[in-house]
Amino acid sequence: AFVTLATNDSYALGAIVWANSLRNPLDSSDPANLALLGRPNLGCTFTKLHCWRLIRYTKAVFMDSDTLVMANIDDLLEREELSAAPDPGWPDCFNSGVFVYRPSEDTYRRLLDFARSCTSFDGADQGLLNMFFNDWATKDITKHLPFTYNCVSQAFYSYLPAFRHFRRDIKVAHFIGEVKPWHHSYNSATGQVEPREGTGHQSEFLQHWWDIYVTQVHAMLPAGAVSVQLVTCGL
Ligand code: UDP
Ligand code: MN
Repeated sequence: AFVTLATNDSYALGAIVWANSLRNPLDSSDPANLALLGRPNLGCTFTKLHCWRLIRYTKAVFMDSDTLVMANIDDLLEREELSAAPDPGWPDCFNSGVFVYRPSEDTYRRLLDFARSCTSFDGADQGLLNMFFNDWATKDITKHLPFTYNCVSQAFYSYLPAFRHFRRDIKVAHFIGEVKPWHHSYNSATGQVEPREGTGHQSEFLQHWWDIYVTQVHAMLPAGAVSVQLVTCGL
């Protein structure tokens, strides 16, 4: 299973585009040709722990709804719990926006007990999960996913030469931070995204997000269900 979380309309929009981005590579018969904290509102991300309760699946991949899949990632299901990519902000911690895990009521209960008995060091799920799976950094290198499976937007400006060199290998882009892809504007006359300044988001990936939104998602949403910034030239 691939699992995400959306607690409100805003993140639901991300989730729908994420699901479409995931479905596109899954349907591809030729993956080689695929071209392509500190925030107060993140307390609710503890809800992520519920993903351990999906016990009808033996293995699952949790992905934030602000991620975008650009190449086939089915091979993630061959990884073991808990596999995740390093967080560039503190690489001895994993980023909890993409992780492979084994659904289990027992693990769920232990996670809940753990959450009750200690304080997450960042107040959100990432701190908690890193404290729970606390040997991730050192114990087993096979549980370190390549960074290309969770390429956080921050990396685009913090190590630009590497980003340029490895951009073709990127399988999942993750738009971390308060501003999400759906907060940018899109010019429906030109078909181009008009990125807000200073977000660190890479315009090529934002364009990909919006291309999916415009071609696969917008028409299926009930009118007025969510507000996104579609800008039409001349209005
Ligand atoms: N999320 C949600 N509602 C919220 C905040 C977060 O559903 O109000 C979910 C959503 O799946 C989101 C994830 O929790 O992608 C983690 O939050 P976010 O992506 O904003 O954190 P960041 O990646 O920016 O650190
Ligand atoms: Mn995220």
